[in-house]
Amino acid sequence: MTTQETIELFNKYVIANYGRLPRVIVKGEGCYMYDVDGNKILDMFPGWAVSGIGHCHPRVVEALRKQAGELLHIDNTFYSEQQGELAKLLSERAFGGKCFFCNSGAEANEAALKLARLHTSQEKYKFITAEGSFHGRTFATVTATAQPKYHEGFLPLLPGFVYVPFNDISALESAFSDEVAAVLVEPIQGEGGINVATAEYLQAIRRLCDEKGAVMILDEVQTGMGRTGKWFGYQHFDVEPDIITMAKALGGGVAIGAMMAREEIAASLVPGKHASTFGGNCLACAAGVSVIKAIEEDNLLEYAAELGQYIKDKLEQLKQKHSIIDSVRGIGLMIGVQLNGPGKEIVDKCLEMGMRINCTNNTVLRFMPPMIATKDQIDQAIEILDAVLKEGE
Ligand SMILES: *Cc1c(COP(=O)(O)O)cnc(C)c1O
Repeated sequence: MTTQETIELFNKYVIANYGRLPRVIVKGEGCYMYDVDGNKILDMFPGWAVSGIGHCHPRVVEALRKQAGELLHIDNTFYSEQQGELAKLLSERAFGGKCFFCNSGAEANEAALKLARLHTSQEKYKFITAEGSFHGRTFATVTATAQPKYHEGFLPLLPGFVYVPFNDISALESAFSDEVAAVLVEPIQGEGGINVATAEYLQAIRRLCDEKGAVMILDEVQTGMGRTGKWFGYQHFDVEPDIITMAKALGGGVAIGAMMAREEIAASLVPGKHASTFGGNCLACAAGVSVIKAIEEDNLLEYAAELGQYIKDKLEQLKQKHSIIDSVRGIGLMIGVQLNGPGKEIVDKCLEMGMRINCTNNTVLRFMPPMIATKDQIDQAIEILDAVLKEGE
């Protein structure tokens, strides 16, 4: 099929709820993706943060091939080794909690919100979330997402959600009450523009939750699985949450989500309260196990921290040359470039020159390269961005 033929299929048969670029991608390998016309694209935002160890990582592909030959799916009426093993590996790399598996980030957050309600007393029905957050598109998670643009057309939303400015401790204190079941925030806001939480802020959430008997939930859907140089974003901040949620990079390209809760909280999720038909299926869990092993066997956590610093230094150099760059921020391989103007045209031009990045919150370029990217590949990406910014001046 030609690009045009595929686009026609979409026009006729696929709901047009995404703004798509006119490219048909047919192959991915490591840091690169290839379109049907044979163009090779350096991917600094693979799979929207899903392909955290690159496209089609050989260990993930091998694990999937092996698992596909044995058992694709068994329902949660039974036990499966893969689900048990993945839960153990995740638990050991976080705070020793227990896991529930689902299929996406929104579902993981949905599960966390429901569990917080179940675990706390009946009069606690409120949730505090932060402005600029993103937690998903289901009714509860889009309500939790404190950005008006995502709410348009869906009012009235779920009751009980209270929004506070991110990183503002006194606003948090004023919003807190005995009716709060949970606070839900991202350690680094992703879609909101790579806004890094302060340690003081996350520690204040911890203290207030403890004082009021509320549950501290961290959305690690984007920050999790090693991207920041530690397994989970919270591990940079000397704080321990009650619940974390994961998805995106967890399956190395396969759909999977997970919620991990401290054991005494997890105990409130008894049969009949929550479930997912596909959640924790063998294929997805085998993928998750292979992702963790790949990251460890290749020392990618350490490398992500080092490579992140390398990119930041390069971007700081670009900032000296191009006045459109206001600042560079982020941790590890979760990097935002704050521009003084809109970034969409820059992203489009980079793609024309064979490099993909993302723009979020209108003015923030988002670099989330895979943890396997080489310094040469980063140099190429920076060169392309440099050329595009020069052209725009
Ligand atoms: C992407 C994202 C989600 C939603 O995940 P889906 O898999 O699209 O439902 C939730 N929270 C954060 C922080 C995300 O980045």
